[in-house]
Order: sequence, then C-alpha cells, then structure tokens
Amino acid sequence: MDRIFIFDVDGTLTPSRRKMTKEFKEFFEQWALKNHFYLVTGSDLPKLQEQMNGMDIHADGIFTCCGNQLWESDPAVHPKHCDLVYENKFEPPKDLIEYLKEQLEKSTYHHRAGNHIEDRGSMLNFSIVGRDCSLMERENYFKWDNLNGERKEISRAIGFRWPELDAVIGGQISIDIYPKGNDKSQILKHIKQNINMDSHTKTLADSSEYIFIGDRMEKGGNDYPLAQLLQTQDRPYGYTYETEGPEHTQRILENTHND
Ligand SMILES: [Mg+2]
Repeated sequence: MDRIFIFDVDGTLTPSRRKMTKEFKEFFEQWALKNHFYLVTGSDLPKLQEQMNGMDIHADGIFTCCGNQLWESDPAVHPKHCDLVYENKFEPPKDLIEYLKEQLEKSTYHHRAGNHIEDRGSMLNFSIVGRDCSLMERENYFKWDNLNGERKEISRAIGFRWPELDAVIGGQISIDIYPKGNDKSQILKHIKQNINMDSHTKTLADSSEYIFIGDRMEKGGNDYPLAQLLQTQDRPYGYTYETEGPEHTQRILENTHND
C-alpha cells in the first residue's frame, strides 16, 4: 500500500514561527528522499520557505493559506521555484475588517506590536498582539490567551455574526478567517486528483494510506477539519497523529508506518 504523508508545518516540522532546526532538517531531508508527502500550512509561500530554512522542498504538493493555494515545485528551474496550481480568492466583508479593528481597540491585552490584520488574498490572518511581535512577546501572548481564551471568544463571535465564514485558531497568536469549508480539509480531494493524474499511479488514490501529522487537532484548531475528515470519511486508510513539536514528529516517523 502506498503511503501519502501530509504535514502541517508550524509546530510540526518547525518550532512555532521559527525556522526548522539544523538537526530536524538533516533528518527530514533524508526521510523526504524516500517518501511521498504534501505540506499544508496556514502561512503563505514566502513565510513557509523562510521557515523551511533553505531546505529544497521536494514535496508532491505544497498547500499554503490553509489549502487555499496549491504550489508545485519545478525541479527543472530551481529547487526553490514553485508554480501556482490554484488559488481561492477571498474578499473579506468590509464590516468584518471594522469588527477586527474594534477588537484591537477593545482587547485588554496590554501590548500591540504591529501587523494585526494580514490579507493573504485567499484568507485573513488576525492577531491582537500583532505578527511583528518578538518571540518573547509571542510566548507571553500565547500564555495569556490560554488563560483568558481571547482567540476562542473572537473566533466564536465571528462565526456567529458571519455564518458564511470560518474563524479558527492558528499558531500561537492568530486567528485564520476564510469562507466556510475552505480549510485544510479541502486538500484531500486535490491530493486524490493529483495522484490520479499520474497514469502509473491511477489506482493509488483509493488504495493509498493517508498519514497526517499536525499540532492543532483539537476542535477549533486549524488541523482539526482535515484530521476529522481522515478519521471519518477515509477510514480505514486515514491516520492522524497530534505532535508536540519537531522532535515528537521525528519519533512518530521513525516508529510508525516505517516498515
Ligand atoms: Mg501548526
């Protein structure tokens, strides 16, 4: 049976919002030579490439912005050259932007670092502390938010007021917002199509084993929709593993599905 691995990036292959470590990169480059895999991240392509720390990403496909963009790398051009295969456009409602600005003013969190509302073309990324924060400020907000549940509350309020949108907690400091259903779970149909396009592997799509590793599989986390889909719709061929970070991911890869 063919195995198709799917990885979240932030908190799974790299420490949160930091570059892949040298140790993990050494391990993963070797592993990647022998396995089929896809990446799926909430970040956009430049941020992903920065986080991969110079690794030549020989993935079968790279899904950015929670699966709203698919890239394929072109080995003939340059290891880091990627072609856009598709992109879902999202124009955020004006009153949503106003609402987010209000939340920025209303939040009782004490610090604002800048870069709070980021329009990625196919999704919005919102952060009270701001994406320009330092690592220390990021950790501080993460701890505070865990105690106060601010992101949960804002996500819920957005879902209530704009039922056509999904607002989910991503990473340590932000909320990802996109049209309902345009979450990481959308990648599965594209992966199956992608496999089917290759005539040598025509029968693979339905007989493949899908293994998804991510760090936010709890309800409301950005890995939840894809994990759910694999745990239900594709049983028995979908396996999901919630990781605590790159070292844990390495242990999962070394100890599981490794025959
Ligand atoms: Mg993650």
